[in-house]
Amino acid sequence: MQVSQGNFQLLRYPTVKQEKLRAWDAADEYILNDIAGKITNINTRILLVNDRFGALAVALHQYHPCVVTDSYIAQRAICENLRLNQQGENFVSVFDSLNLPTESFDFILIKAPKTLAFFEDLLLRLQDNLKPNTQVIVAGMVKNMPNAIWQTLARLIGPTTPSKAVKKARLIYATPDTAREIPANPYPTHYQLEGSAYQIYNHANVFSRQQLDMGTRFFLKHLPCHQKYQQVVDLGCGNGVVGLIFAAKNPTATLHFVDESFMAVASAQQNFRLAFAQRHANFNATDALADFTPRSVDLVLCNPPFHQQNTIGNHIAMRMFKQAAQILSANGELWVIGNRHLGYQNSLKQYFTKVELVAANAKFIILKAANGR
Ligand code: SAM
Repeated sequence: MQVSQGNFQLLRYPTVKQEKLRAWDAADEYILNDIAGKITNINTRILLVNDRFGALAVALHQYHPCVVTDSYIAQRAICENLRLNQQGENFVSVFDSLNLPTESFDFILIKAPKTLAFFEDLLLRLQDNLKPNTQVIVAGMVKNMPNAIWQTLARLIGPTTPSKAVKKARLIYATPDTAREIPANPYPTHYQLEGSAYQIYNHANVFSRQQLDMGTRFFLKHLPCHQKYQQVVDLGCGNGVVGLIFAAKNPTATLHFVDESFMAVASAQQNFRLAFAQRHANFNATDALADFTPRSVDLVLCNPPFHQQNTIGNHIAMRMFKQAAQILSANGELWVIGNRHLGYQNSLKQYFTKVELVAANAKFIILKAANGR
């Protein structure tokens, strides 16, 4: 990446062979070039929000910025790219989206997230990081910056000014309006899980935050029940509803909830605690199954993501299937739900000798994959 601050090497994370996509976009370049002339001294305090792979953190490392992200993968990417550019990890302080720094900043640079609810939640959480003269700059690709982003920024921070579009990217500047009224944060929201008494809480950046996803609903109906499933992973757990219903059907199983979103893991933890006050379970914001030891798990339950951060494709599901094959015990099973058109049957056959149909309807298919005899 070539910007006013210098030339930097940046890789996406997780790294894939022959990666065709860049680890930064035109909005990163635009915001970096834009603020280069505005930062007047090395002690300027900068907060970076939603830096995807570290383009902003790496280019601005000399100011020792703070970074806030909901993505474990983004945190990893930032550390890897700091190293790649011979910058120690201690140049940057990394925070997750539920535990923000407590100081106030001169600049808050935000990459516009895809979800408006998450944007609103972030702006509400950032209120204590604002001073009357803090400059807030939101950067994004024009197609990802609908009017609602502007309106939310004006409502929760203050008057906004747009930049012109450059390479289909735009910046919006906002300065705090000291007379603004800050509403209570409505997140996490919750709904009652149909056919049950469970209340399902969802932080703002959680998959299918407002209602049960159709695929998940079908999966819940067909979850297995057997003593042989003792160590069970809810992979890409979102609000944890899959692991929660499995736990209700299988009282002796130990559940491990994993998601790369900190808000998802926090939601899953809250929901499990509310459902089973005394039962032990593990909750981990991490990258898929990387933290599990080989052959240690009896069952992996997965409603795979179609995208990771902004990248769409089935490569994330493929990576999850491959890792599941490694961590499952000899008789372990991976249960997967997906849209029929995704062709998971063939994908699973690359890593498993047995792939069976559990259930199907007009839209979804549930598959069981194993490598046992
Ligand atoms: N299991 C939940 C459900 O059925 O409602 C959520 C399923 S959602 C389709 C997929 C989830 O995978 C999202 O919560 C997303 O954050 C998570 N995810 C994406 N990439 C991941 C990764 N590399 N490791 C762990 N989780 C990931």
